[in-house]
Amino acid sequence: MSCGNPHAVACVQIHLWMWIYLDNELEPESSHQVVHHLEECPPCAEVFTAERIIQTRIRQCRETVQTPEGLHTRIFTQIQQTISGE
Ligand SMILES: [Zn+2]
Ligand SMILES: [Zn+2]
Repeated sequence: MSCGNPHAVACVQIHLWMWIYLDNELEPESSHQVVHHLEECPPCAEVFTAERIIQTRIRQCRETVQTPEGLHTRIFTQIQQTISGE
């Protein structure tokens, strides 16, 4: 998964940042490095395009499938009980 070019930021790091970047939760400085990296690294740009499509689909699913109210709290409580029940 390397194009052979030397990069300021390693491809592995870019892959980790991609998801955060797609969530719009990456710091501006790191976002800039992602964009810059994608411009000079075709393999990573390809991965990014694929991940963006997946991310968009996930987002569409989240919008159409409503999570029942309180579900996260219930799951969290259950996990807490499992942990404390040891
Ligand atoms: Zn790369
Ligand atoms: Zn590269």
